[in-house]
Amino acid sequence: MTTLDCIGSGNAFSNGQYWNGFLVDRRILFDCPAQTLTHLQKLDLAIDDLDLILLSHQHSDHVLGMDLLLLELTMGRASKRGRPLRIAAPPGVNERVAEIIGGAPRMTPKDDERITWIEMHDGANFEWEGVKVQAVEVDHMPELFLAVGYRVEIDGKLIAYTGDTKICDGVYTLAEGADLLVLECGGGPPHMNWDDIHKLREDLPASTEMLVTHYNGVTAPDVSAIDGLSLAEDFANYTV
Ligand SMILES: [Zn+2]
Repeated sequence: MTTLDCIGSGNAFSNGQYWNGFLVDRRILFDCPAQTLTHLQKLDLAIDDLDLILLSHQHSDHVLGMDLLLLELTMGRASKRGRPLRIAAPPGVNERVAEIIGGAPRMTPKDDERITWIEMHDGANFEWEGVKVQAVEVDHMPELFLAVGYRVEIDGKLIAYTGDTKICDGVYTLAEGADLLVLECGGGPPHMNWDDIHKLREDLPASTEMLVTHYNGVTAPDVSAIDGLSLAEDFANYTV
C-alpha cells in the first residue's frame, strides 16, 4: 500500500484549480508545479525526505516549482540530506529549469553529488531508493520537445502517470498492468479529451483505476457513476 497526494489537478487554463502535480509515498514527485514547496510544507513533509522528482516535460505548469524547491534543498535544509536526490526528466528540461532560475547557485551542475539529474527517453529505466521507474514517450508537442510519462513500481504497486499527451500508444503502454493510471485531460490537442478518457476506461481492465488530472473543473463531466474513473481534487490524499 502506498499513498498519493494531489498537489494540483488543473492545467494552465483551469479556473481556480492548482496546477497539476502529485506526490507518491510522500517522497516521489510527479511534476513540480509552482505551489509544490508550499504544499509539501502544508503536508508537514521534511523536504529532505524527497527521493525522486519525475518531470514529464518542460511546460511551465509542470516545472515552475523547481526554482524554490531547489532553493530550499540547496540553501535551506540540503546540508542535512544524508543521501542524494534524483531528478529525472526528458532532454531540455534541465536547461529550461536553469533558464527559470537564471544563474543562481541553486541550479546545481548535472553531476552534483547532492542532486543528480538523469535524462529520460522512451524505455529508459532505473531503480532508486527501492523504487523502479520507467519512462514512456508520449505525444504532446513532439515538434518542440520530447515528453514522457512514467511507470513507478513501489511497495508492490504500479502507478502510471501520463504527464501531458494526446491519446497515443504510449498511454496504453503506460497503463499496462497498472494499479492506478493518473492521466491528463487537457481537453483537446495537444491533450486528451473526455471522449479519449471514456474510451480508455472501456479499453483498460477494471483492475486499473483511473484518476483524471490536468482538467478544467468548469467543463468536466460528472463521472461519479462510472466505476474505476474519478477526478483528482486539489490537495486530496489517495491510497493505492
Ligand atoms: Zn504541457
